[in-house]
Amino acid sequence: MPDDNARLTTNDMQPFWMPFTANRQFKDNPRLLVEAKGMYYKSHDGREVLDGTAGLWCCNAGHGNPKIVEAIQKQAGVMDYAPAFQMGHPLAFEFASRLSAMLPGNLDKVFYTNSGSEAVDTALKIALAYHRVRGEGARTRFIGRERGYHGVGFGGISVGGIVTNRKFFGPMLAGVDHMPHTHDPKRNAYTKGQPEFGAELADELERIVTLHDPSTIAAVIVEPVAGSTGVLIPPKGYLEKLREITKKHGILLIFDEVITGFGRLGAPFAADYFGVVPDMMTVAKGITSGTVPMGAVFAAGDIYDTFMTGPDNAIELFHGYTYSGHPLACAAGIATLDVYKEERHFERAAEIAPYWQEALHSLKGTKHVVDIRNLGLIGGIELETRPGKPTARAFETFLKAYDKGVLIRTTGDIIALSPPLIIEKAQIDRIVSTIAEILPTID
Ligand code: PMP
Repeated sequence: MPDDNARLTTNDMQPFWMPFTANRQFKDNPRLLVEAKGMYYKSHDGREVLDGTAGLWCCNAGHGNPKIVEAIQKQAGVMDYAPAFQMGHPLAFEFASRLSAMLPGNLDKVFYTNSGSEAVDTALKIALAYHRVRGEGARTRFIGRERGYHGVGFGGISVGGIVTNRKFFGPMLAGVDHMPHTHDPKRNAYTKGQPEFGAELADELERIVTLHDPSTIAAVIVEPVAGSTGVLIPPKGYLEKLREITKKHGILLIFDEVITGFGRLGAPFAADYFGVVPDMMTVAKGITSGTVPMGAVFAAGDIYDTFMTGPDNAIELFHGYTYSGHPLACAAGIATLDVYKEERHFERAAEIAPYWQEALHSLKGTKHVVDIRNLGLIGGIELETRPGKPTARAFETFLKAYDKGVLIRTTGDIIALSPPLIIEKAQIDRIVSTIAEILPTID
């Protein structure tokens, strides 16, 4: 392969079974990134690549922030690892305390995981155990949503609603229903920000709850803004309705904020942005700005308190990971929170979001574009599908953009954008003009 930097031979490429990747096609024509700084990657063939996706929606503070790098390096020298069960280390407590102080409403407990998928499965397990500890063990059902993405654990793919993530893997978790997704291209195409129409889709929740009897439902899980399935923005009033219905029936509401958490919408969390507070929140990605793998579940204090009612020498929740609260991740996370605050990243995202919105919507009328959606620093550009080739146009756009030095992401025939929160106007212009140049050249 044409690679001076990474010293790889074609044979070296074979053992790695790459995730969510067309392995054979990729290995014939690899795209490798070898360095990252600020808004830019460097590719293995020595080109600068503008990051329009914050890695995978995660590097919110931009790449290589010196303060975060230093904190990780320092911690690696001080203590690599400490056992996570019946033992602890100060940074895990300090980070949880810092996180707790920035959470909305009555969310104030932090359970560490290593990824978004683990956070989702953890939240589902907490929901089941919580009801059981309260003497409502019949609450075992979950309700997710079509087109929802909640990671790749068995719990996550069960409550998730993306067919390709489910169909190969046999029976799912039993007792899961799905509400309809909120994408309505007839009424809401080219909406800037939150769509006007569709709050009534939340009434489906009432229907499903009634069908099974509320006393059998443990939790409802949704992404406040669905990201991986192509950027679906909740209609005005929709999340509020979900909150109302779940509260009325004693059902826990879980917001999967793996993408929306840590400033993506210009507020700390989507719960803050929408003014709707769930009972649990799942996060990952931006919690360490993508630097060290970490996820977490944030839970309401009364959920935690419910578990604390048994004998005080008993383990209250039989769940956890070897790397829960890993010292390097905690050090990275604390430094990341400092950076977000000192460099005003969330505020910057809010300030530049209107420019982002207008820039994206300037693509209306470009060949193949059928819808544009945005909120905060998230954007989705939906393309008309080439007959019989459901992902081809977006993927070709991705390849051509990469050749032109701009990293975008695609899901189905939708271009999904989520740059680091430090993006500047000229860089927004470059992303948009690159897409505008490429689309007319595609069949
Ligand atoms: N939930 C949501 C909403 C996500 O977007 C993702 C990842 N894109 C996940 C869960 C899974 O996170 P991870 O890949 O860290 O397991």
